[in-house]
Amino acid sequence: MTLRPLIDARSIVKTYMRGDTEIPVLRGVDFSVQSGEWVAVMGPSGSGKSTLMHILGCLGRPTSGQYIFDGVDIRRASDRELARVRADAIGFVFQTFNLLPDLSIVENVEVPFLYSGGRKGKDAHGRVLEALEHVGLLHRLAHRPGELSGGEMQRVAIARAMVMGPKLILADEPTGNLDSRTGKDILSLFRGVHQAGVTIIVVTHDREVAAHAGRTVVLKDGEVVQTD
Ligand code: ADP
Ligand code: MG
Repeated sequence: MTLRPLIDARSIVKTYMRGDTEIPVLRGVDFSVQSGEWVAVMGPSGSGKSTLMHILGCLGRPTSGQYIFDGVDIRRASDRELARVRADAIGFVFQTFNLLPDLSIVENVEVPFLYSGGRKGKDAHGRVLEALEHVGLLHRLAHRPGELSGGEMQRVAIARAMVMGPKLILADEPTGNLDSRTGKDILSLFRGVHQAGVTIIVVTHDREVAAHAGRTVVLKDGEVVQTD
């Protein structure tokens, strides 16, 4: 078996327009991740970390550059194909949890099935319960996000990210809104996710969080300035 990277991004440029002015946000980033790696992304606020995650997660396209995800050339993929890749292979975890406030916990974790082209599968409910059991929230099924603590909300988000059996978890400052104790609990969930063979990329300002990763990539002003 030849080893091929799960993520192979080269010379990624992302430019936003503000009026007539071009704002360069990513200035030629090379970023390659092997399957099963856990990579931390650090760097000052505004350095382009979230923008890079957006592109790696196939939520947006680069202005230029090449991006191969799991053998799929993202430049050539249609919007529909991108949506399919996201639904099947990528789970997202955000600093502010991004749960739907009017849905119950169970319904929140069911959401990814809606995006996977109706391929819900007959065991969907079982998978939702299994994901919630994994994060220790079986006793909260009918609650709404607003009734939970921050740590519990992030657990729901992790269950939602994991429920489709993704290859990749992208987490953008997942402990940024949590106290350090709760952050440690969330990190231990990530450890379990990684042990299960899922590739993780985590943006963080916290060195302790980064220390769990196998290596760290540092962005500054839209460029990779350091990697170990
Ligand atoms: P980080 O996550 O490292 O803090 P971001 O990727 O969020 O950085 O943002 C990098 C830069 O890109 C910032 O200067 C931000 O203002 C700008 N930016 C991000 N998204 C947009 C957008 N949709 N339109 C215009 N500028 C943006
Ligand atoms: Mg950010």
